[in-house]
Amino acid sequence: MPKALSPRLEVSGTATVELTDKQREALARVRGRIAGGDYTLEAVGCPCEADHDITIANIDRYGLAVGTQLCMSCGLMRCSARFDQRSMARFYAEDYRDMYDPLGPVLHFETDVKAGQWMIRQMPKLFGISEVIFDIGCGTGGKLLPISALPGKRAVGCDFAPDFISHGRSRGVEIVEGGAAALVEKVGKRADLVILSHVAEHFLDLERELTEVIEAIKPGGFLFIEVPGAVGGFELPFYRSDILRYVQNAHAYYFTRQTLTAVLTSLGLQVLSMDENVSGAALKPLDWTPRPMKLPANSAEALRILSHLSKLESDILKGQGASAGT
Ligand SMILES: [Zn+2]
Repeated sequence: MPKALSPRLEVSGTATVELTDKQREALARVRGRIAGGDYTLEAVGCPCEADHDITIANIDRYGLAVGTQLCMSCGLMRCSARFDQRSMARFYAEDYRDMYDPLGPVLHFETDVKAGQWMIRQMPKLFGISEVIFDIGCGTGGKLLPISALPGKRAVGCDFAPDFISHGRSRGVEIVEGGAAALVEKVGKRADLVILSHVAEHFLDLERELTEVIEAIKPGGFLFIEVPGAVGGFELPFYRSDILRYVQNAHAYYFTRQTLTAVLTSLGLQVLSMDENVSGAALKPLDWTPRPMKLPANSAEALRILSHLSKLESDILKGQGASAGT
C-alpha cells in the first residue's frame, strides 16, 4: 500500500474525533462488520481515468482503514479503498446516522432551519425567482421550512432516512421518501431550483447520481450546491485544520472550487458562482442533454491541493512535537 503523507495518517484503530457512547457502539459494530466480511472494501480509480495518485491517508477520522487518494492529473480527491456499493447501501441503512449524527433528528432540524435561512440570505435573487424548489437528500427537511414560508413557493425534499423524514413531516415539511426521480414524479414537474447541500460528496457514482439530480431541474433552472471544501473547508472549527478530522468513509469525493466547477461543467451545467468553501450555483441550459463526465487535466490545481494538505499536516506534526517537548 502506498505510504500516506505522514505516519500519523497510516495507523488504523483509533478515532481522531470525539465520540458519544452511541457513536462508539456504532463504530464497534462497523469494525465488526468489516472484520467479519459483511462490509468489503474496494479500490476505485479516478473518474478522469488517469493513474497518477498520491495517497493522502490510509485511515479516516474513525480509524477505519479506508484510503484517501489525490489524483495529480485532475485534482479530484477520492476515497479509495472504500466500502463497495453493497456495503455502503447497508452502512447508510443501519450504521451511518448512529455513527455520524450524534444530534439526532430533532436537533438536526433546528440546525437545518438556520442553514435554510443562510441560503436565502446568500442567494436572495435565486430564491426570489424560483417557484418550485427541491432539496435532494434533505435529511429532516429543516432547510425547507423558511423557504416554504416565502410567498408563492412549493418546497419539497427527499431522503431515505425514515426517522429524519417522519420528524420533518411532523414539523410541516413536505418530504418524499426516495431520490430525485421520486421527487419529480410526486410533484409532477421539475424544479426551478434544486438544493444539493452536503450530498454530492457521498455519491459513489458521480456521473450517474449528479445526472439524476440535473434531470430533476427544469431547463433554464438552477442548482445550488455545497460540499465540504478540500482546501477552504478546513477553516471550519470542527476540522481544526486536521486532515484526520476531515477524511471519512462516507465521503466518496472531496472537491475544491475548481474541481467541482470542472465536474459540473463537464456534465453540461453553466457554473455561475463557486467559492472555496465549496458552495455555488449553476444554470441548466435550455438545450441540456445528458453526457458522459470527462474531467480535464488540471495538475496546477492538484499541486495546490497537495501543497495545502502538506502544509496542514506539517503544522499538526510541529504542534505535536511542541506539546511532546513540554
Ligand atoms: Zn483524476
